[in-house]
Amino acid sequence: RAKESGGETYRFFTDDMTTQAAQRLQMESQLRQALLHKEFFLEYQPRIDLKQGKLVAVEALLRWKRADGSRVSPAEFIPLLEEMGLITSVGEWVLHTACREARYWQEIGLPKIRVAVNLSARQFHQANLYDVVQKCLFHSGLPASCLELEITEGLMIDNVQESIALLQRLNHMGVHLSIDDFGTGYSSLAYLKRFPVHTLKVDRSFVNDVTTDPHDAAIVQTVIHLAHNLNLTVTAEGIETQAQLDFVRHHGCNEGQGYFLARPMPSENLIAWYQAQSEITEETSQEPTQAS
Ligand code: C2E
Ligand code: MG
Ligand code: MG
Ligand code: MG
Repeated sequence: RAKESGGETYRFFTDDMTTQAAQRLQMESQLRQALLHKEFFLEYQPRIDLKQGKLVAVEALLRWKRADGSRVSPAEFIPLLEEMGLITSVGEWVLHTACREARYWQEIGLPKIRVAVNLSARQFHQANLYDVVQKCLFHSGLPASCLELEITEGLMIDNVQESIALLQRLNHMGVHLSIDDFGTGYSSLAYLKRFPVHTLKVDRSFVNDVTTDPHDAAIVQTVIHLAHNLNLTVTAEGIETQAQLDFVRHHGCNEGQGYFLARPMPSENLIAWYQAQSEITEETSQEPTQAS
């Protein structure tokens, strides 16, 4: 086409730009509607202790189902919410909802697992994050030790001193802190040493090829060692196969998360999943065992 006429190419290009801009505008207005019409909900993905096979936490993941039933990925709409300045209010809703639902699971007899909430950069740097977290815990009645906040490395770069101070205050409150997508950001080891976090989550891009790419295998092993030497626990994200699970477990990774273990699911399904899961565990432990 470019050969036929340069002018036409130009026109196609601008048409494309116009379409993109129009689509974006449409999505922005749909997002504002979504807030009003309560089209957001949370799914929870189990995180498993790899030694004991027990559920230790669930990660709250934001979902948007539009009026026509179609879904949009958070990777697509969360950056938009950030740019639109709406992420702090949506993020606050996520925190409140996750704490409330987690408290409800405890009330109906599930064990005291943590609920992990992702924080965006804007939200982390909002002046009153500490108060928001405290308010969510207070209103839900969820113990601070049952809340985990996932932050990314990049988020702390802007203002390191202030970020460390905030993490320290949250830490003193009793909240569990983890670094998400670890290995993909730019934080230096000198910073990592000073961040009062408890857990590193190895990014799923490394876990994905851990059994086929020796470089990824080396990175995952190194992150596990690094975490343990810094007295942190380590979680592998995005475990999709038995072989990946075996690899990270063999190398001493503490916890795992991924489709092979469990998919993200709405609160009701999580309760059913847990009950089915614990029946299996009970059956296994009731089997006659060799006297020790
Ligand atoms: P993340 O925090 O790293 O979350 C993990 C993502 O990996 C989720 O994608 C999850 O569904 C996906 N995942 C889990 N296991 C597997 C697996 O075995 N294979 C593959 N291919 N993927 C797996 P999701 O739900 O699409 O979320 C994408 C990102 O959006 C999240 O990445 C997080 O950065 C962001 N996000 C989601 N919910 C929230 C939220 O409430 N607030 C903020 N600020 N960000 C959120
Ligand atoms: Mg996360
Ligand atoms: Mg991640
Ligand atoms: Mg992420």
